[in-house]
Amino acid sequence: MSNQPLLEVKDLTTSFFTSRGEVQAVRGVDFNVFPGEILGIVGESGSGKSITCMSILRLLKNNGRVIKGSANFEGQNLLDLVEPDMRKLRGNDIAMIFQDPMTSLNPTLTVGEQIIETIITHRNSSRKAARQRVIELFELVKIPEAASRLNSYPHEFSGGMRQRVMIAMALSCDPKLLVADEPTTALDVTIQRQILLLLKEIQSRLGMAIILITHDLGVIAEAADRLLVMYGGMVMETGNVDIVFAKPAHPYTQGLLTSVPKVNTSNREKLLPIPGSPPDMLRPPTGCPFAPRCLHAMEVCVEEVPPSFELEGDHIHKSRCWLRHPDAPEAKGEAA
Ligand code: ADP
Ligand code: MG
Repeated sequence: MSNQPLLEVKDLTTSFFTSRGEVQAVRGVDFNVFPGEILGIVGESGSGKSITCMSILRLLKNNGRVIKGSANFEGQNLLDLVEPDMRKLRGNDIAMIFQDPMTSLNPTLTVGEQIIETIITHRNSSRKAARQRVIELFELVKIPEAASRLNSYPHEFSGGMRQRVMIAMALSCDPKLLVADEPTTALDVTIQRQILLLLKEIQSRLGMAIILITHDLGVIAEAADRLLVMYGGMVMETGNVDIVFAKPAHPYTQGLLTSVPKVNTSNREKLLPIPGSPPDMLRPPTGCPFAPRCLHAMEVCVEEVPPSFELEGDHIHKSRCWLRHPDAPEAKGEAA
């Protein structure tokens, strides 16, 4: 893995301005994405995962605004680009896959026509070359009988196959970064896994970087290299996937991991959700956003947002938790 990040996000802060007040959706998020890695982002619904990505891709709804921060992609700050430059980048270097392919596919055109059009526009290729490329992409995403499926309309595909079409479309311009935001949530669990693992396989063949937002911690464990755990608009923990799963440092991550159903048991175990509910981002807590639900909360946790502490001996692994302060009573050992 190269040491030079492909994307470097610093202090990203995004709010929505609503009739009820300012919703502080993203509050000072820092992270890097290195070329060729899969970065997983997890966290309960409302923790700011999508808005982090939408801010970077500059796809916020009209009432949303990036208040501060930067997002350097190969040396240029995406947040400063004029819209036409940003649009160009979105079609070429950065691609996206969203949850519902029906909203991104044009129901009136065959899937072949749509992707061929995209390739012709972005790559200046001939129709014949573009068509050949689509067949290759369909084979890559394992759509059976690729050549004939080009002539089908979106509604003629199953949900899972439609998602494969979306992935093929996203890959059509050889992106350096692919942002996949819960791309499979609408699908059956087994198909979800197939698609997410397909993404991993494609990544290892094509070598682009992927930001993968998913609820499926099992898939993150199998597919991602590094992990960001988000809560209340902040990054609570980050590190290499193996390490974070083996030794989660943040009480929130520990809670998330114990709420994962076991995949390989026939009677799926009941999810044990973390008691309590996520903060209201109109009035986020003064201190650690997780403090009201945290079994280990100390006085300082309620009063002040903790900094991100590096874990001993692992500069990649960080936890935004006062328990990691050198003077904290439980700093030694895992907060269990
Ligand atoms: P998730 O982690 O589930 O992807 P989001 O990033 O979508 O969460 O949302 C973060 C916060 O921003 C949530 O509190 C959500 O309600 C709020 N939010 C998202 N979009 C808007 C909007 N258009 N207007 C107001 N609040 C919004
Ligand atoms: Mg989301």
